[in-house]
Amino acid sequence: MRALIWFRADLRTEDNPALHHASKVATRGALAVFAVCAEQWRQHDWADVRVEFLLRNLACLSERLKRLNIALRIVEVPHFAQVPRALVELAQRHECDALYFNREYEVNELRRDEAVARLCTRNGLAVHCSDDQMILPPDRLRTREGRCYTVFTPFQRAWRACIEQGEPVAPLGSARPQPELLCSPDPVPEHVPGFDLDRCHPDLWPAGEKPALRRLANFIARHVGAYRKLRDFPAADGTSRLSPYLAVGAVSARQCLAAAREADDEGAKSGGAGVSTWITELIWRDFYRYVVVAFPRVSRGRAFKPATERLRWRNDPAEFATWCAGQTGFPIVDAGLRQLASTGWMHNRLRMIAAMFLTKDLLVDWRWGERHFMRHLVDGDLASNNGGWQWSASTGTDAVPYFRIFNPATQSRRFDPAGEFIRRWVPELGDLDRRSVHNPPVDVRARLGYPAPLCDHAAARRRAIAAFQRLSAGRQA
Ligand SMILES: Cc1cc2nc3c(=O)[nH]c(=O)nc-3n(C[C@H](O)[C@H](O)[C@H](O)COP(=O)(O)OP(=O)(O)OC[C@H]3O[C@@H](n4cnc5c(N)ncnc54)[C@H](O)[C@@H]3O)c2cc1C
Repeated sequence: MRALIWFRADLRTEDNPALHHASKVATRGALAVFAVCAEQWRQHDWADVRVEFLLRNLACLSERLKRLNIALRIVEVPHFAQVPRALVELAQRHECDALYFNREYEVNELRRDEAVARLCTRNGLAVHCSDDQMILPPDRLRTREGRCYTVFTPFQRAWRACIEQGEPVAPLGSARPQPELLCSPDPVPEHVPGFDLDRCHPDLWPAGEKPALRRLANFIARHVGAYRKLRDFPAADGTSRLSPYLAVGAVSARQCLAAAREADDEGAKSGGAGVSTWITELIWRDFYRYVVVAFPRVSRGRAFKPATERLRWRNDPAEFATWCAGQTGFPIVDAGLRQLASTGWMHNRLRMIAAMFLTKDLLVDWRWGERHFMRHLVDGDLASNNGGWQWSASTGTDAVPYFRIFNPATQSRRFDPAGEFIRRWVPELGDLDRRSVHNPPVDVRARLGYPAPLCDHAAARRRAIAAFQRLSAGRQA
């Protein structure tokens, strides 16, 4: 048996179910493939930084596969629609008998995979798919009535119970090396049409499994103990920053869970509360993927709560552009958006503050913000991004109640008390003291060239609440 292993968002050799299983049963060697789909990626709003990071990870993967005597071939097609033919042709050229891949759960990806499976079967190729992206596969958890969970807390309870009862979630062992390379690996492309890869900062995100596992080990050894205390403070190095690695699959969520549980077993050294809180974040990640599977409308751009589709957004293009540029005049919001523009990453607390400001204070449709984030995030991920935006906009599963609207200045004082993060990303405010930096006086703003606030928060809050109340009163908003 000769296997073709199709890599997608799982760019690693350790704990990779498709690779693991294929390498065990291939008696006539194995080949790997990755499909670059430039036009499709653009349609999915992939960011330049994300594509650049992916290509570097692909190059690392190719090296590691080569050591296993597996050559990585690259096919370049514009759309998902051309993938089935390209894969089958490659499989036939190399006399492969079976295709192995790990499941993806978004609507277009599912359709692509169904088309691939159909064409493979028609051409006599066996197809084997595995669950990989989530710690617990999407069909594993159901309510007592057999329904899908729609709220995080009971989902989390069931998730933890399942793990405690011994659900096998340990990472898989290494893949088995093949007897010989079947052909030479393809060079990984350095350019992808429509993406500007030259303006990215490779130094911020070293690519590959090794840096990913090193980051995980370092976080668990040094930071997870204080995670609960520090994770909301953007100026602190309090979170793992593993999200870009999880997004390309350079590390698996199972590997993260295993490292965390091991630290927990060591007890005092790591601090159990930190570990448990961090595991909760991994569960959030599973939850949002679960929602994408159970409620496919969310990956078609629809609100989880259909009633909120009637909400009358203001959608002021000029205000949206000001928000995107990090020029809203609310320092903590601007700091977050500038961090995103400059690094491709934003701290979770700031994602929530920026998202809530856009959807509530400016009443801009959450889909506009979701797309802006996607176009700039190195860790862009449909499930988590959609979940985060719908949570913030009060249109989602476990959404924040619509009347609980963050006050940006209060959030700023609470989570960046010394204004350290603001000063780093809004340098015009660099000399302000810790009191005025959160909301500089009018004359100071004018002197420093920092804009006046884009709106009056108290009035904007009342406007947003009224818009949501019109919905719940059942009247046309
Ligand atoms: C509006 C909005 C948009 C978001 N968009 C994305 C996105 O596109 N991609 C993405 O990976 N995350 C997204 N998140 C979730 C979260 O902000 C990031 O996962 C987190 O900031 C990544 O930093 P970290 O790796 O240091 O996380 P840590 O705090 O170290 O957490 C570990 C891992 O848990 C997962 N995680 C943590 N928080 C969340 C969360 N709230 N929801 C889902 N998973 C979580 C991530 O995979 C993360 O890497 C978004 C959140 C919001 C509010």
